[in-house]
Order: sequence, then structure tokens, then C-alpha cells
Amino acid sequence: MSSEHEVAVVERGSFAIAHCTCGWSAPARRSRDLSRRDAEAHGSEDGGPETPDAGNRA
Ligand SMILES: [Zn+2]
Repeated sequence: MSSEHEVAVVERGSFAIAHCTCGWSAPARRSRDLSRRDAEAHGSEDGGPETPDAGNRA
């Protein structure tokens, strides 16, 4: 249990983008709510198709 995903939603003008400490980031959304959903989805789904840390399993 050492894969921490800390996602932060950054606002850019009228857009919001979710960024994670693992390097993952969601596409820009027009609503912060959607970005929060992206963040939650990423946090629960351990790893997406574009995750750099794919060799960290004990
Ligand atoms: Zn992450």
C-alpha cells in the first residue's frame, strides 16, 4: 500500500483540470464538478491506460 494518489483540481479560467501526484492528469473540463469526478474515478481505479508506475507491485 504505497501508491498514493493525491488529486488536486486546478482551475484555469473557466476550465478545471484534475492533476495527480502520480503524474496523471485529466483533460480540461468546463465544470469543476466533472473534474472532481475525474479525480474520484482515478483515485478508485488504481491505474489508467496512461500510468507511468506500472511496475510497483510487491
Ligand atoms: Zn494517481
